[in-house]
Amino acid sequence: MYGKIKEHLKNELSQIREAGLYKSERIITSAQDAVIRLDSGKEVLNFCANNYLGLSNHPELIAAAKSALDTHGFGMSSVRFICGTTDLHKELEAKIADFFGTEDSILYAACFDANGGVFEPLFGEEDAIISDSLNHASIIDGVRLSKARRFRYKNADMADLEVQLQNASDARFRIVVTDGVFSMDGNVAPVDEIIRLAQKYDALVMVDECHSAGVVGETGRGVTERFNVRGKVDIITGTLGKAFGGAIGGFTTGKREIIELLRQRSRPYLFSNAIPPSVVGAGIRMFEMMAETSELQNRLHQNTEYFVAKIKEAGFDIKPTKSAICAVMLYDAKLSQEFATRLLEEGIYVIGFYYPVVPQGEARIRVQLSAAHKHEHLDQAIAAFTKVGKILGVIQ
Ligand SMILES: *Cc1c(COP(=O)(O)O)cnc(C)c1O
Repeated sequence: MYGKIKEHLKNELSQIREAGLYKSERIITSAQDAVIRLDSGKEVLNFCANNYLGLSNHPELIAAAKSALDTHGFGMSSVRFICGTTDLHKELEAKIADFFGTEDSILYAACFDANGGVFEPLFGEEDAIISDSLNHASIIDGVRLSKARRFRYKNADMADLEVQLQNASDARFRIVVTDGVFSMDGNVAPVDEIIRLAQKYDALVMVDECHSAGVVGETGRGVTERFNVRGKVDIITGTLGKAFGGAIGGFTTGKREIIELLRQRSRPYLFSNAIPPSVVGAGIRMFEMMAETSELQNRLHQNTEYFVAKIKEAGFDIKPTKSAICAVMLYDAKLSQEFATRLLEEGIYVIGFYYPVVPQGEARIRVQLSAAHKHEHLDQAIAAFTKVGKILGVIQ
């Protein structure tokens, strides 16, 4: 039975390989951190993790996870509404709402699920979803699962958003959906202007804070802090898998009735397991740490400013960034691969991105800064970029 599709799949796989689009996994044998060990035994500096605050291997989160393992065990063996809700889950949901200044929150196994389960329960065929063209795959999939009409506007283009809002003017409800930070460029969505347009055209606003929460804004409260619009975004989704410890877990936070209805109707919440106590316990401790001090945010912001200034000074062409993502533009796909390979030889672990992950002819190295990076790590990375850049003729 398998024979026929097996040939077909092998064919497809070799096409992926021939197109140079085959993704392989690099094996890491240490914990996630600024310095990681690869299976070759080589130690390298990691500049491609979403470990923005350096919490992935933080002793306080490890201790909190262990403590929750001791008090609440390993697994929940249930979805939330049957017997998968502990006091810890409720505490974490309250802490998320506190952090974002929202009314209530609901946890999911991942933000992919939060985005996958947010549209279908809230919007029907009479409604319109207006989505930024660079929004994350999980938003695109979530929108597909709803019956609402779909409109797309050019990335962060407010004139085009206004046109789409006008096109959707006959809908019962309208919602504008955007990533807070766009992961390939590091630009921030102009959420203040989006809110202004949404008010003008009577639309709701949803922001996916996956790359912005913990990072953007003076104290890391995300784009609503940066634009001074706390409480004015109706729906925020986010992840515990990036700045917030990097383990697993997602959430939706926002208006009370929206969250309440999601608990009744959102399919990834109703039909998928509750996240384990260890992850929830560490999440609670993480939000306590965020409330105590913005030290990690400060360090991240300083590291980012320093790296961006130095890489520009070295002569590299970078995308304007307002986040902890710095896209070093190389334009040519092959060059981006060669550049990343040589950087690894120099002990700097980054990835070269090219079409279809970014537009054709816009290949780049995406550098992600972290509060875990020490000054000497940044200097080492800049020296390696400069060396490889000169060898490959990217800079003078
Ligand atoms: C990473 C990411 C997600 C998915 O988050 P997970 O919790 O890893 O599923 C969703 N949206 C955006 C914008 C992301 O960057």
